[in-house]
Amino acid sequence: MSFDTLGLAEPLLRAVHEAGYTTPTPIQAQAIPAVLSGGDVMGGAQTGTGKTAGFVLPLLQRLMDKPAVRDARGKLPIRALILTPTRELAAQVEESVRTYGKHSKLTSMVMFGGVGMQPQIDKLRRGVDILVATPGRLLDHHGQRTLDLSHVEIFVLDEADRMLDMGFLPDIKKVLAVVPAKKQSLLFSATFSDEIKALADRLLNAPVLIEVARRNQTADLVAQKVHPVGREMKKDLLTHLVKDNDWHQVLVFTRMKHGANRLVEHLLKQGINAMAIHGNKSQTARTKALADFKKGELQVLVATDIAARGIDIDQLPHVVNFEMPNVPEDYVHRIGRTGRAGSPGEAISLVSVDENGFLRDIERLIKHEIPKEIIPGFAPPSHERPEPIVLGRMVIGEGAGRGGARPRRDSPGRGDSGRSAHGGARGNGGGGGGGNSNGLRGGGGGGGGGGRSGSAPRRDGPRSGAAPRSNAPKR
Ligand code: AMP
Repeated sequence: MSFDTLGLAEPLLRAVHEAGYTTPTPIQAQAIPAVLSGGDVMGGAQTGTGKTAGFVLPLLQRLMDKPAVRDARGKLPIRALILTPTRELAAQVEESVRTYGKHSKLTSMVMFGGVGMQPQIDKLRRGVDILVATPGRLLDHHGQRTLDLSHVEIFVLDEADRMLDMGFLPDIKKVLAVVPAKKQSLLFSATFSDEIKALADRLLNAPVLIEVARRNQTADLVAQKVHPVGREMKKDLLTHLVKDNDWHQVLVFTRMKHGANRLVEHLLKQGINAMAIHGNKSQTARTKALADFKKGELQVLVATDIAARGIDIDQLPHVVNFEMPNVPEDYVHRIGRTGRAGSPGEAISLVSVDENGFLRDIERLIKHEIPKEIIPGFAPPSHERPEPIVLGRMVIGEGAGRGGARPRRDSPGRGDSGRSAHGGARGNGGGGGGGNSNGLRGGGGGGGGGGRSGSAPRRDGPRSGAAPRSNAPKR
């Protein structure tokens, strides 16, 4: 199949051609005609499937087909609003809008927090057709009356599941209250929880349902490997792998922000050019790190899960899980950063005995075992026993159910958790006793309960009261 048959106008086809795409991906083949027909769409697709072009191309075409009506002062109204959970994703989506819309006259802007309001106000004053934004800053502008959303004709919620995970539901509801009731709405989500379905019921009108397979679950282009490793040897193993294999562009995941910082310090001392990207970094630092990494000038980018969400780097060759995610779905998201759009990639996981439970949960989710290979000199010492992992106020991992006030091996500073553990909400089976083998234990390490905790704080919720504030994007 080619793009020519999907009903797109010539300026868009030219841009697609210049981007080097010849064949639409499955989500594009389905979403483009559906959006062009004007109806609402519910798309089940994650990053890496080509979903951005899947909604941006037809959105551009619908706006091109119907010229904007300027207001009395000659200003362009915002006719399309795209909401994303993170700043990085907002920036990348807007970049796609510009790439695919470069032969059209349509204008766009990106809006997120962490940077000054005034330049955004100036741009808004000049008027744009398409606004890509994160919810917090959008509402700030709306509250200050620097933003008029009353002419929105197309509304897109991108990565809706992440938005809910991050506690943005109240903000989404506020946005829905200020955009016109009559509009075309598109919702994209990698998963369909009851919460997402409820949101879709509220937002969408007789939507066309489009679902494409989650790429990495069929584990096509990504070669996955686990290196079992001694707890205290991880940093040296990573250094060894980077140097020995002469890796030049490696995305490394840690669970927590301060872990990311410490790893960067270690790598720098070893002469490896590295930077961290997470919610405590200024927007300027995050943008620079990402830009340098994309250009190939930064050898190692260390990220927490939320910060890495939506990072889109063509042909990223290596992803390393320096720490295994305690939410198994995050593994799929992490390794989805590599092996994208046709180029092969490699996902390496450094797993200590403390993380064997996480690994089991992940293998259960992806429905296959990941090959294990011990690197000589880095094997886990035979006497090493699982210890609990402290994640903010949560104690998790193999050793967590064993009780006793263990010293905080990795005691984080205030608000430093990359994300709080996610408890039983996803119910993905789990190890002994019918619970999640992560041995989640709520509270401040004071014992009690073991196994699943119904009172696990909602992860990443920016406004979740008692939950440790984590990597949620700032406005
Ligand atoms: P997305 O899922 O939108 O984040 O896109 C993932 C990656 O696939 C991006 O790097 C796009 O540039 C690339 N891409 C999107 N559509 C196509 C296509 N039809 N052919 C090849 N690459 C594509």
